[in-house]
Amino acid sequence: MKETILLKLGELVLKGANRRSFEEKLLHNARRRLKPHGKFQVYIRQSTAYIEPLDDACDMDGAYAAMERLFGVAGLARSYPCAKDKDAMLEAAKVYLADKLRAAESFKVESKRSDKSFPMTSIQLSQYVGGELQEAFPHLRVDVHHPQLTVYLEVRDYAAFVHADPDPGAGGLPVGIGGRAVCLLSGGIDSPVAAWMMTKRGLGLEMVHFFSYPYTSEAAKEKVFDLTRKLVPWCGRLTVHVVPFTKIQEEMRRVVPEEYFTVVMRRFMMRIAQQVAQRTGCGALITGESLGQVASQTMQAIGCTNAVCTLPVLRPLIGMDKEEIIRIARKIDTFDTSILPYEDCCTVFTPKHPRTRPQPDEVEAAESGLDVDALVAEAVDGIERVYFNPEK
Ligand code: ATP
Ligand code: MG
Repeated sequence: MKETILLKLGELVLKGANRRSFEEKLLHNARRRLKPHGKFQVYIRQSTAYIEPLDDACDMDGAYAAMERLFGVAGLARSYPCAKDKDAMLEAAKVYLADKLRAAESFKVESKRSDKSFPMTSIQLSQYVGGELQEAFPHLRVDVHHPQLTVYLEVRDYAAFVHADPDPGAGGLPVGIGGRAVCLLSGGIDSPVAAWMMTKRGLGLEMVHFFSYPYTSEAAKEKVFDLTRKLVPWCGRLTVHVVPFTKIQEEMRRVVPEEYFTVVMRRFMMRIAQQVAQRTGCGALITGESLGQVASQTMQAIGCTNAVCTLPVLRPLIGMDKEEIIRIARKIDTFDTSILPYEDCCTVFTPKHPRTRPQPDEVEAAESGLDVDALVAEAVDGIERVYFNPEK
C-alpha cells in the first residue's frame, strides 16, 4: 500500500444536497490541482477525501503543497495505509512515524473506528499501540492532555490509516460552489487579498485590470500578472482581462473637474467590470476597498461609485485595518510583490484635493461632458485576455 493524503472536509454545517455538491466540487478541484503532480485516485468517504498515488512517479510533496491551498479542506495529513489489524497498525506507526516518535518527548495515541465491526474498542486499540510504542521508544512519555505528538489510528472501510497530527487546511468552501465574480485587481496590497478572501468563500474569479499605457508601464502590468500567478494555487485557472484605460483617463482630464476625478474614474471601472461580468457569467464585483483608507473610500464616495452598479459589489476588506490586510497578504505571499514600486492608473491621475464627500448629483454633473456609454464600449472592445493555468 502507498502513502495516502487524507483531507478532512470543512464547513460541517452543510447537510444533504449542499453537502453533496460541496463534495463533488471539492473532488473536481482536487483532481485538477493534482494533475501536474502525477496520477492519483481521489475519492471521498465519510467526510474524508483520500488521495492515493497510482504509481511511484507521483510527486507527493508537490501534491501535498497543492492540497494545503485547496479551499474546503479543514485539515490534512500524509498517512500510511495498512491492514485493519492491531499489529499491522503498530508496525506502520513504528516505521512510518519513526522520525517523529524519536524527536518527540511526549505522545498519545488516538484511535477512531468508522468500521464498527473492528474487534477492539478505540480505547483498547490506543492502549495497546501506545504501550507497545512506549516500549519501542523508551524516551517517550505519555501525555494525554498536551502531547507533542499524537499518533492517529483510523480504522476505516477498506484499510486502516496511520498518521501524525494533521496540518490546518485552507478552510472555506470549494472554489466555484458559490458562482463566479469579477475581481478588480490593481497592483496594490489590497485587491489580491480581497480576491483571496472571496475565493475562500467559494467564488470562481475573473480578474479585471485597468491599464493606462504609457502612463503606467509594461512593468506595472507584469506585476499584476505576477500577483495573479501567486493567486492561481488558491483560485485555480484565472483569466486577466486587461482593459485599455488611457483614453478614458485622457478624456476625463479634459472634461472632469479635478476634485471629482477619482470618483468618476472609479465609476468607469465599475461600469466596465460589470460588462465583463455580463459576458463571463459573473454575478458580482469584488474590490479591495476599505472604509476611510483613502479619499475615494469614504462612505459618500463609495455611495457614488456604487450608484452605477446593478450587480452586488463585494468588499471583503471594508472593515479591516491595513495591518490586518497586510497579515493576510504575507500569508498568501502577495505582499512582497505588491510593495514593489509601480504606478497604478489611480496614482498617476490623483487629484491634489479630491472631494472626500462627493454627492451623486455633483458627480453626475462632473461627468456629464463625457460620452460615457461610447467610452465604456470602446474600452470593453479593446480588452486583452491573458490566461493563467495551474495545470501546466
Ligand atoms: P489596492 O491596494 O488593491 O490597489 P488601494 O488601497 O490602492 O487598493 P484604490 O487605488 O482606491 O485603493 O483602489 C480601490 C480598489 O479599486 C482596488 O482595491 C481594486 O479593487 C480597484 N482598482 C484600483 N485600481 C485598479 C486597476 N488599475 N485595475 C483594476 N482594479 C483597480
Ligand atoms: Mg491601488
